[in-house]
Amino acid sequence: MITNYPLTKKQTEKIIAEHPTPFHIYDEKAIRENSRKLYKAFSWSKDFMNYFAVKALPNPFILKILKEEGMGTDCSSLPELMLSEKAGILGENIMFTSNDTPAEEYAYAKKIGAIINLDDISHIHMLEKAAGIPNLICFRYNPGKARTGNTLIGHPEEAKYGFTKGQLIEGYTIMKKKGVKRFGLHTMVVSNELNPDYHIETARMLFNLAAEISAKVGIRFEFVNLGGGYGTPYKPTDKAIDLDYVSDGIKKAYDEIIVKNSLDPLRIVMECGRMITGPYGWMVTAVRHIKNTYKDYVGCDACMANLMRPALYGAYHHITVLGKEDKKSSHKYDVTGSLCENNDKFAVDRMLPEISAGDILAIHNSGAHGHAMGFNYNGKLRSAELLLRQDGSVVEIRRAETAADYFSTLDFGKLEKFKQENFINSLK
Ligand SMILES: *Cc1c(COP(=O)(O)O)cnc(C)c1O
Repeated sequence: MITNYPLTKKQTEKIIAEHPTPFHIYDEKAIRENSRKLYKAFSWSKDFMNYFAVKALPNPFILKILKEEGMGTDCSSLPELMLSEKAGILGENIMFTSNDTPAEEYAYAKKIGAIINLDDISHIHMLEKAAGIPNLICFRYNPGKARTGNTLIGHPEEAKYGFTKGQLIEGYTIMKKKGVKRFGLHTMVVSNELNPDYHIETARMLFNLAAEISAKVGIRFEFVNLGGGYGTPYKPTDKAIDLDYVSDGIKKAYDEIIVKNSLDPLRIVMECGRMITGPYGWMVTAVRHIKNTYKDYVGCDACMANLMRPALYGAYHHITVLGKEDKKSSHKYDVTGSLCENNDKFAVDRMLPEISAGDILAIHNSGAHGHAMGFNYNGKLRSAELLLRQDGSVVEIRRAETAADYFSTLDFGKLEKFKQENFINSLK
């Protein structure tokens, strides 16, 4: 089941009168309700927290809402750390989970008191040189052959992330010697996984590993970070993860492993992004042209620069034709953008009601990795982001880019001089 678009065509047209298409619109009420559902499911776990993966929806207005719902942030770059601070999410409410990390980003993360989650054993030395050893450290585990991944993230063995088990034991031993007193353990092995048992299995794996390392190294873990990767329904036939089921399974594993080995209390945290906001965002775009050649094409005023997932992974994004919700899907279309790349398609061979120029489409599940993946190739500009507030009002939480933004990194004064110099040189 996918989440219905929350507005009528009429309501949408009223919004468009003030905020021209294309835009992404996010449903605040649904995001808050969904966040509460997650926290309720894990209410048995003391100090449970989700560190929202900023990359999914890097907008400070959204981060502020999630902060109010008790979340922190999971950041992987300096600008993401800065964005988190702007939203008022600070210190240990930030998890810095990066890879191939530059030294200065570790230094910044340490300075602001974020939890540093190292991706590799060689980073210990680099971190110490760049910033000194923090009093709390987390390592990312890559289980290799012990687990299978999924198509979006690949198999752990092929993934560039994380420590091997041997490296974890060595790494924690080094950190203990250096006087570190507080420890965390993290993994992230799948992306967009809808199978709830997989997520329970990941927790069980981390609990067992925490128990083993505690015994071998003689340290006590403060938290395990189960990572993100909780899937959301993209297709009408997909089934959402039952969070209560996952939570029950994780609690059972916790009692069997953590409580039994006297490692209780062990804080459980996550860093889900997609599951928190993905289903509660829609990209709204108007149809410019209908083109009938070897196939029938619907040409939109948005393109893959505004929502790249279909072009990037062949991802399915459901499309609602506003005002035609009850009409039969009788026509087969490719729904395209205007970028000069033939994979600039939101849907291929999609059955939809008959569409005319001027129709408005809502493309579902744009609340994660939608606007965030935007780019400027082909001179395409990123769209605005709007927030549908709980009282039904709409606020713009990011304006659309203009041509001036596109040119802002160029120096045209220098260009003028450059031309003159070439001219003078050519006379010599
Ligand atoms: C992308 C990412 C996440 C969030 O993944 P979702 O699929 O959005 O839940 C969490 N942790 C790390 C390290 C990531 O790279």
